[in-house]
Parts: sequence; structure tokens; C-alpha cells
Amino acid sequence: MPIIFVLLALVGLYFLVKKNINRTNVTNKKVDPIQIEKILIEEVDFYKAIENPIRRESFKLRVIHFLEHVRFTSVGNAKHELLDEVLIASSAIIPIFNFPDWEYNNIKEVLLYEDHFDENFKVNKDHKLMGMVGEGALNSTMLLSLRALREGFERRDGSHTAIHEFVHLIDHADGVIDGVPAYLLPNDLITPWLRLIRGMIQDIKENETEINPYASTNEAEFFAVIAEYFFEKPTLLERNHPHLYSMLTTIFKPK
Ligand SMILES: [Zn+2]
Repeated sequence: MPIIFVLLALVGLYFLVKKNINRTNVTNKKVDPIQIEKILIEEVDFYKAIENPIRRESFKLRVIHFLEHVRFTSVGNAKHELLDEVLIASSAIIPIFNFPDWEYNNIKEVLLYEDHFDENFKVNKDHKLMGMVGEGALNSTMLLSLRALREGFERRDGSHTAIHEFVHLIDHADGVIDGVPAYLLPNDLITPWLRLIRGMIQDIKENETEINPYASTNEAEFFAVIAEYFFEKPTLLERNHPHLYSMLTTIFKPK
């Protein structure tokens, strides 16, 4: 009899611990700041361009904070490295770098696929899906293609999958992904912002522009796609669409 009690107690303890693990998003991972700084210097142009040493340090600390609080899981044949985790954390911090108090409360885990994937989350390099913010059972989970993640940092072509997905999370912070980042955009600019982006969506549908046509899907995709352009090629965006550039400057407050 006592053995049965011990077994029951152990089973109970197992489920209690498992439940707690599932409920917390602290990974308790030990992160080496020197290693992180080395990767940032070698791989992240945004970090290299920060001139003020205090702001540089702040970027690094926020990357480390993100790494310590989010779980990274490779799926299938994917094998991610610390480099990939640092690239993801950097993509999280870049858009909200000028909001020192910003905390992502809507992400606990990033699932990494070796390549693009389809709607059934099966790897398919010919499919268009490169990233996704999970819903329902995948709430607080982001799905990312490792290839797309790395290409975002290697190429300066105006597209950046990981920033795109984090901008969806920033948009989602007010409860709905609708292209209006209510915490970043002053109230009186919401209507002008929506008018501007709806006009732009119409323009993309009717004319050929240099903006990725995926932006015309809806207001939320427009915001995420144009944010990629803003962080990748700000000078070109300012020249081609000064009003849009000025609104994005109001939203993201780059310094
Ligand atoms: Zn999207």
C-alpha cells in the first residue's frame, strides 16, 4: 500500500510540475552576454548602426531578456542555433526599440521550420508561408522558417519575415490584429492612418508599385509589410512615399 501512495504522489507531482512548466514562459536559460554581443556585432546591422553606447547596451540587454523568456523549438529536421535565436530576439526588439517599457505579453514560444511550410504546418519549400503568428491552440506561439529568418538579415531587399511577424504581435497588443497599433499611434491619427493605408491598398491593387503586393491583402498585412520596408529601406520609402514614411516615423519613432 505505501508504495502505491508514493507512486500516486509522484504522478501527482509530475502533473503539478508539468502544469507549472506549461504556465510559465520563463525558460531559465543561461545566456552569455559576450556571446550574444559577438553575434549582434557580426550579424545585426541595426545593432551595428546604433552609435550611442548606452542605447547599444540597452538593445543587447533587451535581446537577452527576450532570449531568457521565450522558448525556441526546432520542428522536424530543423536544427536552429543560438544565432537564430539572437536574430529572432533582434527582430522583436527592432520595431519597439524606442519604447523602453514595451514587453511582449503575447509570445511564449517560437517554432522553427527548416524552410517554408504549408497550412498544415508541413515543410514545403515552394509554399509561400514563411512565418505566422499562431491562434487558438497555437496562441502565444510564432512559427518561422529558418531560411526566411536568415534571408531577412542577409539581404537588404525590403523584406524581413521575422520583423513582419513581430509587427503583427505589436498590432495584436490592443487585442486585435487590424493594422492599427493602438498603443503606438496617437488616437487622433487613427482615422488618417486608416484612410492612408486603405488608399494605398487600392493603389497597389490598381497599379504596379514597388510595394510587395501582399500588402494589399488587408490593413493588418499592409502594416506588417510596410514595416518591413520601413526598417529595411527607410531612405527609399521616404523618397517614394513621404506621407506614409512620416506616419511610420510617428508610429515607430526611429532616432
Ligand atoms: Zn502577415
